[in-house]
Amino acid sequence: MRIVQKYGGTSVGSLARIRAVAQRCMETKAEGDNELLVVVSAMAGETDRLIAMANRLLDGGEGRGDSLAGQAWVAPKRSGNASYERELSQLISTGEKVSAAMVAMAINEMGGQAVSMVGHQLGLRTDRRFTNARIQAIESERLERAFERGQIVVCAGFQGIDPEGNITTLGRGGSDTSAVALAAAVKADVCEILTDVDGVFTTDPRIVPNARKLRRIAHEEMIELASLGAKVLQIRSVEFAMKYGVALHVRSSLNRNEGTWIVAEDRDMESVVVRGVALDRNEAKVTLTDCPDVPGTVSTIFQTLGGAGIVVDMIIQNASRNERTDVTFTVPESELERAGELLRELPLLTNAGTEILTDRDICKISIVGVGMRTHAGVAAKAFAALAEEDINIQMVSTSEIKVSVVVEERYGELALRALHDAFVLDAAPK
Ligand code: ADP
Ligand code: ASP
Ligand code: MG
Repeated sequence: MRIVQKYGGTSVGSLARIRAVAQRCMETKAEGDNELLVVVSAMAGETDRLIAMANRLLDGGEGRGDSLAGQAWVAPKRSGNASYERELSQLISTGEKVSAAMVAMAINEMGGQAVSMVGHQLGLRTDRRFTNARIQAIESERLERAFERGQIVVCAGFQGIDPEGNITTLGRGGSDTSAVALAAAVKADVCEILTDVDGVFTTDPRIVPNARKLRRIAHEEMIELASLGAKVLQIRSVEFAMKYGVALHVRSSLNRNEGTWIVAEDRDMESVVVRGVALDRNEAKVTLTDCPDVPGTVSTIFQTLGGAGIVVDMIIQNASRNERTDVTFTVPESELERAGELLRELPLLTNAGTEILTDRDICKISIVGVGMRTHAGVAAKAFAALAEEDINIQMVSTSEIKVSVVVEERYGELALRALHDAFVLDAAPK
């Protein structure tokens, strides 16, 4: 078999863990004489440390940045500025290079045969979006030659090169996408994502202890959960798996238990209404009061933000009074400042005396399941569960297979547990 294994940051987070990874790689290769391509993340906390160090540099501060494992992602200082993003990408891609070299070295030390590959050596070509690049093609000849030599190829995740040969990175959590894309390129039989939990759960098992491990989950559900805050897989990795038919298995790097398979939807899956619940703390809310209620207002606002690469999520426009209207929407918290600056410069709003109110203390909770297509009353049940806990809902949005609500940040975990209980997700479906 040809196997791709991706080890995340915690799984390579110390020298002991790196040795354990090397051991597992050797065993995986030996079981059935497999060909093995390994993708590694930076050691836990390293990407954030590098970003924090760059932030300090620009702030005139001192220090190399502390290891920041387990905390929220650090926001880069000057996103949107091309030369800054180019250098940031050069900088943060180094974390994965260190891990790849260390894992390959450990395998060789144990008597195995490994070779690490980084950036241009991987043949992973992307577009020009330095810190949020998309994969365009993979030239796999060099990888194939290593397989022919019987080597374990240890690839630095998260990185590629653009048409000019610049190093690009694939967005936070991007090593998952490296792994699935490489698995598609070398036509691997399976892509295993080895992480610090036993698989994909009904919700984050670190927040809700009675979350249940799922045996399988449909691509569409996983894409929704990932985009709504479940960090276990980067969204694009699932999109790739779906598009190229890559068999994707999320499991623990610490044991050999069967994890969760991400699979094409089948008819049985609709019998479960809610598959999972996700919490996203990285959103912030913007309210624009008394905007002129004339054609083109929201278009100007959202074109301004979209043009600057700021992704707007939920939007509410209130009924108009006296030809004025309030518009509320959410953006990633890391973009809040920039969004505010852009909007304060918009003549349309300044001339109308619009107030720009921002609120970081919110979060978004979402329930997801393909069964929602065929079951009614799901949103009502979710709202009732939140009302029961006295949690006020600030915004709502729905799609065919999800319901999302925005609530005050301090109620986020309570809301997550309330919804998990309301849909009895801890019990195995019949
Ligand atoms: P890695 O470093 O291996 O890439 P991540 O930290 O990116 O790992 O993702 C794994 C983490 O995702 C888990 O530790 C868990 O806290 C979090 N997580 C959030 N939602 C879920 C979920 N539904 N199922 C499993 N893990 C989840
Ligand atoms: N090291 C990168 C990050 O922290 C990529 C990854 O871990 O997947 O975002
Ligand atoms: Mg990850």
